Order: sequence, then structure tokens, then C-alpha cells
Amino acid sequence: MHPNKERTLVLVKPDGVQRGLIGEVTSRFERVGLKLVAMKMMVADADHIEKHYTLDPEWRRITGEKTIKGYLDKGQTPPSTDPFEITGKILTNLKRFMTIGPIIAMVWEGAHAQKIVKKLTGGTEPLSSDVGTIRGDYVLDSYRMSDQEGRVIRNIVHCSGSEKEAEEEVKHWFKPDEIINYRLVQEQILSDVNLDGILE
Ligand code: ADP
Ligand code: MG
Repeated sequence: MHPNKERTLVLVKPDGVQRGLIGEVTSRFERVGLKLVAMKMMVADADHIEKHYTLDPEWRRITGEKTIKGYLDKGQTPPSTDPFEITGKILTNLKRFMTIGPIIAMVWEGAHAQKIVKKLTGGTEPLSSDVGTIRGDYVLDSYRMSDQEGRVIRNIVHCSGSEKEAEEEVKHWFKPDEIINYRLVQEQILSDVNLDGILE
């Protein structure tokens, strides 16, 4: 497969839809040069959300460990030292949050799509997400706040965490015939070797 054909999944979560940020999110991926190849609005069910987050059998451990590190890095005490206890609660709350209203599911295609989308999305916890990223620019939240309030972090978007995750997530959310193969005129400007035919 040519690297230009790489695909990755993005979800605008219920908070992103409610905050009127569908256009902002979409425009960030458009302006970097990625191509939108599938998009739908839907209300997901809890089972679909649980499967989505556990497609990677390591998710429970990794997300738990990341949360513990997030606390320790700020000199704070994590709610538990057991990563699995932490993600058990997160998953329950995620199933509630992600099904509370409409979400937008999208597939973006282009060179290094997964890494580029992850970079523009930013880290999980908005308190420490980089400035310039979606999660750094459009929302404020922290593990401490969300844990105290017994809810998940509000961070506007989901994006695939790795190329393998991207492949599995695209399949989980879209049937093959919902994804459209087409060309954008800008593709020639981004990567055509000769870039000819501009001057008359
Ligand atoms: P990401 O969305 O950055 O890939 P994860 O896969 O680790 O992050 O977690 C999935 C989602 O679960 C996060 O986007 C966030 O909404 C929520 N979440 C993760 N860790 C926590 C936590 N410690 N407290 C509350 N919510 C969390
Ligand atoms: Mg993830």
C-alpha cells in the first residue's frame, strides 16, 4: 500500500458536537492536506463503545498507567495504583458519555494520516495537551477534575492511537462501501514528482 493511502479514524465526541466544534475539528485536518473519505453522524450504543476502546487488548493497562503517570508528574497522588481499577471506572463512564448524544465519525486519508491526526489532536488530558492542538486550544479539563466529578475527561475528539489501532477502528466504525475512493486536485501539489501543468 502506498503511504498516501493510509487511513485513520476520528470521532467528534458528544462534547465537541455540543460545543459547535465539528467545523473547527474538520478544518484542521483539511488544512494539513488530509482527505476526508468517510463521515457520518450517529448515536452510538454502549456495546459499540466498549468494543471500540477494547479493540486493543492492552488499552486497559496503558490508559491506567498513563493516568497514574499524569498524577505523579504533577506531584499528586493517583486515585489508585492499580491501572486496571482505574480503567474499569473510565470504561463505565466512557460508555455513558459517548452515548449521551450524537457524535461524528470520520475517516481521514493521506500520508502518515494516523500520526499527523494524533499530533494535531494532542494529548489526552487538556491540562497538559500542547498549545496549537485541538485538545490544547478548545477545552480545559484535568484528570483531577474528571475523577473528582466521576466522569471522563472532556477532550472533544477521539483519534486512533497507532497505525494498527487505526486499521481496526476504521473497520469497527465503517463498512467498506461507506468509504469513498476519490481524488482531490491538491494531491498533485502535495506529492506529484514533476508538478507540471501549472504554467500555461
Ligand atoms: P486517547 O483518547 O487520548 O487515546 P485513552 O485511549 O487513554 O486516550 O482514553 C480514552 C478516553 O478516556 C480519553 O480520551 C478520555 O476521554 C478518557 N479518559 C482516559 N483517561 C481518563 C482518566 N484518567 N479520567 C477520566 N477520563 C479518562
Ligand atoms: Mg486511545
